[in-house]
Amino acid sequence: MFKDRYDVIVVGAGHAGSEAAAAAANMGSSTLLVTMNLQNIAQMSCNPAMGGIAKGQILREIDALGGYSGIVSDTSAIQFKMLNKSKGPAMWSPRVQSDRMLFSQHWRERLEQTENLDFYQEMVSGLIVENHVIRGVKTSLGLKIKAKTVILTNGTFLNGLIHIGDKNFGGGRAGERASFGITKELEDLGFEAGRMKTGTPPRVDGRSLDFSKMEEQPGDEKPWKFSYSKETQPLTKQRSCWMSYTSPEVHELLKEGFDRSPMFNGAIQSTGPRYCPSIEDKIHRFADKDRHQMFVEPEGWNTVEYYVNGFSTSLPEDVQYKALKQCAGFENVKFFRPGYAIEYDYFPPTQLRHTLETKLVDGLYFAGQINGTTGYEEAASQGLMAGINAALKVQEKEEFTLSRSEAYIGVLIDDLITKGTEEPYRMFTSRAEYRTLLRQDNADFRLTAKAFDIGLATKERMQLMEDKKEKSEAFVEFFKNQSVTTEEINPILEAKDSSKVDQQGKLFKVFARPNITMEDMRKLESVENFIQTHELDNEVLEQVEVQVKYAGYIEKEKLNADKLNRLENVKIPEHFDYTALKSMSFEAREKLTKIKPRTVSQASRVSGVNPSDVSVLLVHMGR
Ligand code: FAD
Repeated sequence: MFKDRYDVIVVGAGHAGSEAAAAAANMGSSTLLVTMNLQNIAQMSCNPAMGGIAKGQILREIDALGGYSGIVSDTSAIQFKMLNKSKGPAMWSPRVQSDRMLFSQHWRERLEQTENLDFYQEMVSGLIVENHVIRGVKTSLGLKIKAKTVILTNGTFLNGLIHIGDKNFGGGRAGERASFGITKELEDLGFEAGRMKTGTPPRVDGRSLDFSKMEEQPGDEKPWKFSYSKETQPLTKQRSCWMSYTSPEVHELLKEGFDRSPMFNGAIQSTGPRYCPSIEDKIHRFADKDRHQMFVEPEGWNTVEYYVNGFSTSLPEDVQYKALKQCAGFENVKFFRPGYAIEYDYFPPTQLRHTLETKLVDGLYFAGQINGTTGYEEAASQGLMAGINAALKVQEKEEFTLSRSEAYIGVLIDDLITKGTEEPYRMFTSRAEYRTLLRQDNADFRLTAKAFDIGLATKERMQLMEDKKEKSEAFVEFFKNQSVTTEEINPILEAKDSSKVDQQGKLFKVFARPNITMEDMRKLESVENFIQTHELDNEVLEQVEVQVKYAGYIEKEKLNADKLNRLENVKIPEHFDYTALKSMSFEAREKLTKIKPRTVSQASRVSGVNPSDVSVLLVHMGR
């Protein structure tokens, strides 16, 4: 039925589990993916969308590393938008609206085409652990499956409890069973567990909506895509989303249900996502606002189901219905599914190493929502990193980690394991101190060679990246060396209200002006000729534009990152005795003993550790 012993068992086929299984198998590990329902691989539990602010950058990083989320997001997209295009390139964030069913179907197809990967549908109810070393998993039917490493990606399923108004029942997601057994076993092994909650809005029948009363939200005129590979193409047709608003009447109706709300009557005690609050939470916290935005998003190409983004709620279904009917365009609304909230177990991520291996059990990894994060992209990227590291461990090779100046994924994991999280953690650009370096346009430059070295990114990907790099560098050099006459450039500058130049000069200087774009440069024959002769595509043009316009900022951040990396190089032995450092504050000694940072740089980010504590540590390390 199974192999005698797998290299890697992945428990759960959500976003984390799917990436983990793909990465481990693609790196040559015999891998088994065990999940409760093979029909729901990479199911989008909440909004049908991938990417967005900071999350779009993570998706590009996953793709650059050889993961599948970017490709699947492209092939199942129904709308593309580059968010924040009016801001600097560090903030540009790709986002797609997805066809929920296609997304899951395409993931399953990808996984089925992956070598070294077996599948099995069942609930894992426990782990086989000997002397704090993982040996395999136990299933609810009593099977024992052996493995050298195990990756847990249980998402919102561990002791999941669904709430709608004053009713609650066990479940991992609407229509799916909760998972039992694992939390208790892990606690017995010494793990600390906690409880979090999240919520989702109602889904409605598009045939019952009046879109003429809403504002249309079309996709970009020139859509782009996530994957750097040539496997996918930008969309040629798109579906629109729509915007509507709540009103004071809607708020009054919602308030009538507050006494039956699990959020307010004490039924839900755990913490929810701060940046994705329920509609009742928004009304309660921002009482002065008389309306809130709602995005009405199609769930796919060929379905009438719509997702009401911004109206997440666990109020009783009759209250949800009555209130939504008062919103413009929803007067005759019919529900497909009511909104609900879910509480689930998570494990504070300070119990993990940078590889996402647990400190307590050798060979056991955690990835995704089980680590207190929220969001598909956050989950997928952890799955990828856990899958890579489990495969490397089996091959007895060096671990693979990313620093804060290399990737958002590095920031995410470092934040989780160094600071922990007491509320569902989602990524923001503000969490990254080097966001000018961590852009969506250069994730391939940052990461593809690393992934190629460990055997994950393919040769084709590597060649594509090298080709793009070569072409981009040559084009930047062209701008540095190419002169332009006043007759050629001044009409272009005038058209953009930019001051004229009074003598011939290098193109780089004019292109670096804030309001001059690549489109303007292309009006010059020399530039257009270069583009045509060297067959430069959009990726190269975008890349070069950023490199020219933001050269100063990029250089400055590189210098700062180098400084940080110097501290990153000061390693701390794994079993270092902080209690012996009497000149360090008691709080710092206590926290560092718990977190066991690997470097002085990581130690400096632990909450409660002050600059003076870092100095003590540096002196002790002979610096
Ligand atoms: P999941 O996608 O939950 O997948 C877990 C997988 O593990 C499932 O396939 C399950 O069947 C399987 N599994 C679990 N236990 C076992 C077991 N013992 N044995 C075998 N298989 C098992 N994110 C946001 O960013 N914003 C939101 O507003 C938001 N709202 C949400 C609302 C709800 C109601 C839910 C359920 C989720 C919401 N999310 C939201 C979170 C988002 O869905 C998750 O962050 C993401 O799906 C986590 O991915 P994951 O792979 O960690 O887990």
